[in-house]
Order: sequence, then C-alpha cells, then structure tokens
Amino acid sequence: MIPWNYADARKDDISQLVYLSNLIGADPDLVQPGGGNTSVKLEEPDLFGCTVRALAVKGSGTDLRTIGPSGFTHLYLDRLALLAGRESLSDEEMMALMRACMLFPDRDPVPSVETPLHSLLPYRFVAHTHDVATLSLSDTPHAREHVRRIFGKAVAFLEYVRPGFPLAKRLAERFSEGPPRDAIALVMEKHGLAAWGDTAQECYERLRDVIEKAEAYVAEQSSRKRVFGPSAVAPLADAARRDLAAAVLPVIRGELARQGWRAVLYLDDSAETLEAICDERFAEVAARGVMTPEHILRAGVRPLVVNSPEPAVGAQQRAGAGATSTAGGLVAAPLHDAIREAMGRFHADYLRYAKTNGQDHPIPDYLKTIVVPGLGVICAGRDRRSALVAAACYRATMRAMAGAEAVERFEFLSDAGACEMEYWPLERRKIAEGAGTRGELEDKAAIIIGAASGIGRATAERFAAAGAHLVLVDLDLDGAAALADGINAATPERAFAAAANVADPEAVANAFREAVLRFGGIDVLFYSPGVAPELHSVAEMPDAEIEAQMAVHFRGAVAATREAARVMLEQRTGGRLIYNASKAAFVPGERAAAYGAAKAALVHYVRNAASELGRHGITANYINADAVDTPLFRALVRERAQERGQTEEETLAHYAERSVLREATVPPEAVAEAALWLASDHSAHTTGCVITVGGGAEGFPR
Ligand code: ZN
Repeated sequence: MIPWNYADARKDDISQLVYLSNLIGADPDLVQPGGGNTSVKLEEPDLFGCTVRALAVKGSGTDLRTIGPSGFTHLYLDRLALLAGRESLSDEEMMALMRACMLFPDRDPVPSVETPLHSLLPYRFVAHTHDVATLSLSDTPHAREHVRRIFGKAVAFLEYVRPGFPLAKRLAERFSEGPPRDAIALVMEKHGLAAWGDTAQECYERLRDVIEKAEAYVAEQSSRKRVFGPSAVAPLADAARRDLAAAVLPVIRGELARQGWRAVLYLDDSAETLEAICDERFAEVAARGVMTPEHILRAGVRPLVVNSPEPAVGAQQRAGAGATSTAGGLVAAPLHDAIREAMGRFHADYLRYAKTNGQDHPIPDYLKTIVVPGLGVICAGRDRRSALVAAACYRATMRAMAGAEAVERFEFLSDAGACEMEYWPLERRKIAEGAGTRGELEDKAAIIIGAASGIGRATAERFAAAGAHLVLVDLDLDGAAALADGINAATPERAFAAAANVADPEAVANAFREAVLRFGGIDVLFYSPGVAPELHSVAEMPDAEIEAQMAVHFRGAVAATREAARVMLEQRTGGRLIYNASKAAFVPGERAAAYGAAKAALVHYVRNAASELGRHGITANYINADAVDTPLFRALVRERAQERGQTEEETLAHYAERSVLREATVPPEAVAEAALWLASDHSAHTTGCVITVGGGAEGFPR
C-alpha cells in the first residue's frame, strides 16, 4: 500500500478525507472502480448558519480514485441517528429519510446505500474497502476463525447481512453499547473491511496494518500451492490469441444481443489473468460467485466459463499461426460452436435460477463475464467504460478466489442471497446512474473510414452525440486521434483512432480487427474517405488517376464491406453499411470521369451488397451528397474557378443558381444527419437506397 505522505495531506478535515480517499482509490487491490467509501464526522455550519454535527460521506456515483471535495454528501448526524432506531424500513423509505438528512440537498450528490455504516461507527474518520486480502479471509466457510486467529480482538467481525438497511440494523444491534474496545477495524463477512481513526492518517494506517497482516497470512498459506490445480490449457501465443479473439468476440456479442443484452466487450488477456483461467479447477471455483456483493452488479452473479474444444486451440498453436487475418476460419469454428452452445445453456440455467429465487422478469444484463481458457476474460458492459469496470472487479475477484482457496475454500453467497443482491433496486439504480444520454446509437459500435475531416468528421461527432462507440479510421492518424480525444473528453472510452490507407486491403482488415478487439464487434460502417479528382479530359485521362480514384473510392469500399460483412454475419444481429457516393456517381462531371466512374462503381457494388446481405438484416445504402462544404470541395471550387476564369465567389454563385434549394454549399452536418438515420434502427426497412443531400435537379439519381 502507498505510504501516507504528510506533505500531500492538507490540514482541514475535508482535504484530509479527499487525500485518504484518493490513496485508497489508487490501489485496485483495495477498491475497484466506484466501490468502497470514506467519511469524516465534523462540525460545520448548515444552510441556516447553525453549526451542527455532520457526516461527510462519499456520495453515490463517485469514485474514490478521483473524488474531490464536491463528491461528498454532508448529512445531519443527529437525524441519521434516528434511522438506527427504526424497526424496519424499505429501501425507498431509507433513501427518502437519508435525503431528508442532507445539509445541502441542492449541492451534494445523493447519499450512498452504505451511508448508515458510516454514521453508526462512532469514530471520526472511517474507510470501507472491498480489498482482496480481507475478502480472501472472509469469503470462506470459517471466516470468523481466520479473523480471530490473525487479529485477536483488534478486529471485530460481523456475519453476512445484505448491505443497506439490514446491515445498518445488525450493526446497530451488535454495537448498541459501542463497538468492542481496542478494535481498530471491522471485517464484514463476504463484503469487506471498515477501519477507523481519530485522524485520517490513523484511519489509513490501521487499514494498512490490517490489510498487510491479512496479505501476509494469505501469502503464507498460498506458498508453493497452485490453488486452481495444474494448468489444463496452454495460453496461445500473443498474435494467434488476438487473431482468435477477433474471430470469437463478435460471436459472443451477437449471442448476448440475441438474448436481449446489447453490450460492448472488453478482453482482459493480461498474463496474470491468462495464467489463472487456464488452471484445471478454475471453472469449478469460479461457479461459486464473485468476491463482494457489489461485484454482482458490476461483473455478474457468476461468470460463464467456456470449455474450449482442445483441438481448436491446439491446432491453432501447432500451426503457429501468426498475425494473419485468417484466424477466424476453420480453426475458430469449433470454438464458435462451443461458445454458442455454452451461452445458450448458461441463459437457460440463469432463467431457472432467477425463477427459483422469485424473479419472473430476468434482468437483461444477466451475463457480464465470459471466460475462455487460453484466450482471456471477456467482460460485457452497456458501454466500454462499464466493461472495463467489470474487468477490474473480476480481476480482483480472481485474486480473492485464489486467496480464499489457499486459506481454506472460496465460498460466496447462497443463490438466494446473491439473487436478492442482484435484483435489489438500489443496486440496479447504480447502473442507471452511470448512463449518459440514451441516443439512437447507444450500445452500437460504428467504424468511420475517412473520419479525420469533412463529412467523416461531422458524422463522427454526430454519431458520438447519439451515443455510439466509434472507431475513427483515417490516413491522417493525428487528425483522427485529436477527434477521438475530443469525443473521449466528453464521453470517456467511446472513441479510438486507427491509421489505415484504404488502398491497402490488409490495412483495412487490421483496422477492423482492432475495432473488434476494442468493442467486441461492429454494427455500422460509414465509408467516406475522399481523394480530390485531378481534372482531365477523357482524351487524356492518365491511368494513374483512374488507379488513384478506384483505390480510394471503390476498392477501399470493397475491402471495408468485406470486413464489416464478416463481422456482422458472425454477430448475426444485422448491421448498417453506409457509403458516401456523391453526385458524381449519377451525373457526369466535366473532366472528372475517373472520380465519377469510381463512385458509380461503388454505387453498383452497394446495390449488390444490399441484395446479398438483406436476408441477414444487414442494410446497405448510400448518400448522394453534393457541394458539401469540406476542404476537398473547396479545392475543387478553386480548380473550377481557375478553369472558367472566375472568382471562387462567382463559381459558388453559379452552383447556388443550379441548385433546386438555391444553396451554393451544404454543411457537412447535413450529411451526418442522413448518415445517422441510415445508421439507426429507424432505417431498418430501407436498403439499396440513395439519400440526396444538397445537389438539385441535376443531381437527382436516375
Ligand atoms: Zn461495501
């Protein structure tokens, strides 16, 4: 654990609390994203100017790693004390009462469900962790004995009870005369640790002391033990493993979607994870659950461990397949089948478990962690950020599982207890809290090719506002990366940039592979790279110009279509292919035959794609955009003006004149709106179709 640093911890209570929180939050073995909490009891003026005894406690929806002063909720301690006297309270009543205890209801975040724990412990500073070391002791059949053996009376023990009001009630009963004297901390069975102190530093040092002792005990028990048994599957070599992952992630994502869970996937294939999941007994131990109740919400009630068909993994390894894009072929096929079958069985078992425990309306996100030995742990989230949180929680769970197995035996809640937690409305609410805007493209992954400028850029921004996850591909990697940074600043983990020259089919394939590894699949392709035409008469058209135009406007689209269709067919959840075709596909442009012919070839190709893929729910449409105000169009205007001996303004005036809408130019955002409609579910019944944006009578397709 990180040592306390006097210089960094400022003097006032709230600064000390922030410092304490950030120290704890920085260590994923102590708390996982969003989990754990801290508090201080202090005297401060309320809105009326009266100095009162208050509790400042981490608010709901905040994270210890990043929390600042405004992340804490301030509550009247005397009112909170009345809560403990209540015989029974529903969740809603408890939350309503806690809101009524707030000093600054308009300013502070809502109190978390663990607030009563902090108000009931009569110490100034309190820190609560879901740390691996304590849970290695407490997720066992004889947790109390282990705690007593290590700590004697210095650490109190509380048997499992559901967090929230029941936990508060039990705590109040047990400690009605104050907690045991000499105790510096409390282990809550199958939940975590709370430590306290008069100062933030004392609280932290006690926490550290308890955790380090627990760690040493677990380490001693684990020495020379291979807790999950001998290795059953050898992890694949890096390149082969990633190829295989790119081939199977869309299968997993598609199966989840068909069972009602539209998710983005994250693959954890770190060395530590791979080692743990390849062991013989891993599946058996993992089936017992996760490490702390909150992880049920984040990583699911239990993971699905797929038994990989040995020949598939073995054959891949023996063949020594490198980083080729063919990994999804024959080798992956048995694994695809094994995954589909295992997911079907898991879903049926889950429905039975939910029903047995009184839940007739199963939650959609019933499965968040899928383990494929040899490949990695695949976590599902409504967005990539949630999938990352699931992965962090599951990594900690794997460590606690190993620790508990070393100490005694890993054991979590009964099915009934786990289900109660899983369906607890206050926990479910946390999922909703994390949600951004629910736009048309929420939980969809889109790849935009030619994303760094013009129409591609405007479309990326529009898709991002609609909630999409985005892969921004461009020859100009810096431009695409800057765009991704901007999007991620507003909505973290939504966009990433990849460089690709569309003239190189392998580069296009690699961009798709990266996209799948990043999000688990692809739902939308928007193809919009452009290269400005060199103007030549057909009598003098150089072969090089034809080559250049065909490479970018046609062959790149062929490669992108091939890659997108493969992924979409594997997902079996349909898809949207959208292309920027331009007016030139329909109307001959003076001395721009190469450009127009490449676009016309694209249009015909898209019609073929629409007709072949429609039966799989994949639509293919194109946009006939004209006079869109992009750098490429401005360059063309300059060239045309020169050709005609006009100023650029005169040329633009001429364009306005011939446009039905009398517009010289159309903003790229107008094309982005059309692309959004084509990318969304609203266009499900439209395929092989063109939407005209800009242009005029002359540009109407015929
Ligand atoms: Zn907790």
